[in-house]
Amino acid sequence: MSSASGKSQRQAHETSSQPISEAAAGAILTIDLGALCENYRRLKVLLGGVACAGVVKADGYGLGGAEVAGALAAEGCDTFFVAHLAEGILLRTALGSRPAIYVLNGIQPGAEGEAVEAELNAVINSTGQLAAWRARAKRAGRKLKAAIQVDSGMSRLGMPLAEVEAIAADSHAFDGIDVALVMSHLACADEPEHPANERQWLEFERLRKMLPEARVSLANSSGIFLGPAFHFDLARPGAALYGINPTPSEPNPMLPVVRLQAKVIQTRSLQEGAGVGYGHAFRAAGPLRAATISLGYADGWHRRAASAAWFEGVRLPFLGRVSMDSIILDISALPLGRLAEGDLVELLGPSQSVDDAAGHAGTIGYEILTSLGPRFYRTYLNG
Ligand SMILES: *Cc1c(COP(=O)(O)O)cnc(C)c1O
Repeated sequence: MSSASGKSQRQAHETSSQPISEAAAGAILTIDLGALCENYRRLKVLLGGVACAGVVKADGYGLGGAEVAGALAAEGCDTFFVAHLAEGILLRTALGSRPAIYVLNGIQPGAEGEAVEAELNAVINSTGQLAAWRARAKRAGRKLKAAIQVDSGMSRLGMPLAEVEAIAADSHAFDGIDVALVMSHLACADEPEHPANERQWLEFERLRKMLPEARVSLANSSGIFLGPAFHFDLARPGAALYGINPTPSEPNPMLPVVRLQAKVIQTRSLQEGAGVGYGHAFRAAGPLRAATISLGYADGWHRRAASAAWFEGVRLPFLGRVSMDSIILDISALPLGRLAEGDLVELLGPSQSVDDAAGHAGTIGYEILTSLGPRFYRTYLNG
């Protein structure tokens, strides 16, 4: 990032809704929308001519649903998936009336009117939801769009075989409903050799053929990498767009999208025997130098993460426990005075990927991203 574009970024944010300036913030989250769009293009290349949606549930995996979806829409993405109705309503406001927005968790009973109002497409997961959507269409006096989700073997959401058979036998099941999509979700797509992938593919083929002719969708990010048989008419990647490795057993084919930096708020020298942080979970075995940074578990950095921050390529291990608002680092590997109050250390970025950080925390990249807190100063690059 050149200093000129850095300046325009800051100016852009002085008029934005962020309550604090970059100078006042404890930590800075930088989201590279250019890298996000490049990841979208890479997936499209793999998909050949097959359409590619964007999954932007949970506020765009924590990176800002409106910003992320806006960038993807500018890249030509015209179909989005959220998890909750409320996310869909916000996204409709952000994107305007053109793109299709599907609500994966389904529309809860009594909320159908709000979904219609925002022109959202229901993902119908049960015969009860189908009946409710049918009734709402009758009331609206027009056809309402929906996806029918079938359970091909994950046992989470969607209609099982018996329900699919029941609606297939009912000639009025789809009265008033424009079935725009038939979909299912893979449980083990990130393990290409897992036998469940083939089993789910076969079950999906069987179920979807009982349903009205429509576009068909099975693959999430990792599903795209299972090959063309899994692509059908529409892919639904989330994680890979945000730089999480969709092929965990191989090098990451995606670009990193997120950089997280925290400010040094104090440095100190410690004598042998000094207790460090809550519970004195670390005790200095000899003299060392420490820095305290302005980021903690309230910002989504897991308390049990045995992790490190990085400064100019030097690894700075955490000392003791993660506090709510701060973490203590061992900076002995840096020359005296090299790191000072106000300097930024990196938690996520070129030195430590989202997947690396997840490994240190005993979790997955998805949880690292969706945990990122609301206190960060957020900067969007290449929007
Ligand atoms: C979250 C989700 C996706 C996206 O999955 P990724 O692994 O993030 O690509 C696709 N489809 C459904 C039904 C989902 O819940």
